[in-house]
Amino acid sequence: MLTAEIIAIGSELLTPEKTDTNSLWLTEKLNEIGIEVMLKTIVGDDELRLLETIKDALHRSKIVILTGGLGPTEDDITRQVAAKAVERELVFRQELEAELRVRFRRWGREMPEINKRQAFVIDGAEVLPNPNGSAVGMLFEHDETYLIVLPGPPRENQPMFTDFVLPVLQKQVGEVVVRRRILRVSGMGESAVDSAIAPIYKTYESVRTAILFNKTEVEVHLYSKAETAEQADAVLAELVEKIAEALGVAVFTTDGETMEQVIGRMLKERGKTVSVAESCTGGLIGRRITEVPGSSAYFIEGCVTYANEAKIRTLNVPRETLESFGAVSAETAEAMAKGMLERSGTDYAVSVTGIAGPDGGSEEKPVGTVFVGYADSRGTKSLKLVLPGDRYLIRWRASQAALDYLRRQMLKH
Ligand code: ATP
Ligand code: MG
Repeated sequence: MLTAEIIAIGSELLTPEKTDTNSLWLTEKLNEIGIEVMLKTIVGDDELRLLETIKDALHRSKIVILTGGLGPTEDDITRQVAAKAVERELVFRQELEAELRVRFRRWGREMPEINKRQAFVIDGAEVLPNPNGSAVGMLFEHDETYLIVLPGPPRENQPMFTDFVLPVLQKQVGEVVVRRRILRVSGMGESAVDSAIAPIYKTYESVRTAILFNKTEVEVHLYSKAETAEQADAVLAELVEKIAEALGVAVFTTDGETMEQVIGRMLKERGKTVSVAESCTGGLIGRRITEVPGSSAYFIEGCVTYANEAKIRTLNVPRETLESFGAVSAETAEAMAKGMLERSGTDYAVSVTGIAGPDGGSEEKPVGTVFVGYADSRGTKSLKLVLPGDRYLIRWRASQAALDYLRRQMLKH
């Protein structure tokens, strides 16, 4: 498999002010044609370090893509350093200067002399036109190794890459198509997922599998390579079916949907409505449900009842329940869900009460103890979890557990 690496250039990209998004976009485009990105580097505006980095990259990778630092100012060093790395001169191109002058005139200005630097290109490189800016790109090939130099602004380098670089690389890799499917799994750890499905995906040689852990779920990414999209899709469909069967109800999507999208789709299909009563998640569940466009069709109401008094006043949780079992208990979670169902008149209600920490834990109920409650016309149910992580993660995982509980209940009936 052909591999590429990307070097993003610019000191600002090392600071929190500016994020390198070019490499992410480029990686996606490269993956789509079956080229894998094995490494990316961010280098500040420093000649020596950049030179070393480009040289190393050219030793390792057949395709090296540079972005940024092609502007006309002193701190834009990519052009001359790239030339040095491949031991070529920069040559002046009269026609590029003429084009620059025309471009500036169109903007109603004279070209500043400093922009003349942008008419220099690596000797022997193909010039990549830039309809959206003044810096042209370059494609230099030597011994089947490609050095590709693109301007930094995304609105300049993206069309340049798509129009002038992609066709060249596509030819190099031959006619391959890569298609991707994402499965998401809830309620199982990464290694449990992997041991359940490794025997299956290992038999598919044309598919690359990656198992990733998100804050609330495990993702299985499948990249299928074939000569046509139809072939790639057919292999994926077969593999996805086998994996989904092996993991069962834990798989909540085979099409990359989020949990809240899945919940929304299921509620819509069933013509049902939901409400939520939240304590330690502080509105996160309601927020996630309403992030999906069209959620007004099925989401009626959410309450954040943090204090005991609020649980009593708003959700009719019996004072005795709170006193005998505590605010963080199965009984309270179920009473919250029941109260929510009654006040909103929805088909389903879910609730969460727990200890997000860092304080408030005890031996019996450590930080991370969360109860999820559920109510429908048949009655109430609950689930106890002890979630790992800090406050942020516990809140997120609790919201996921509540949504997943709702999903599993809907699947049962
Ligand atoms: P220009 O001629 O516009 O100066 P340039 O090739 O010199 O182009 P830079 O000066 O490195 O590009 O960057 C210009 C702008 O492009 C940056 O301020 C930033 O907004 C954006 N940019 C640069 N590199 C990246 C990157 N890796 N990811 C996202 N944006 C980037
Ligand atoms: Mg610049």
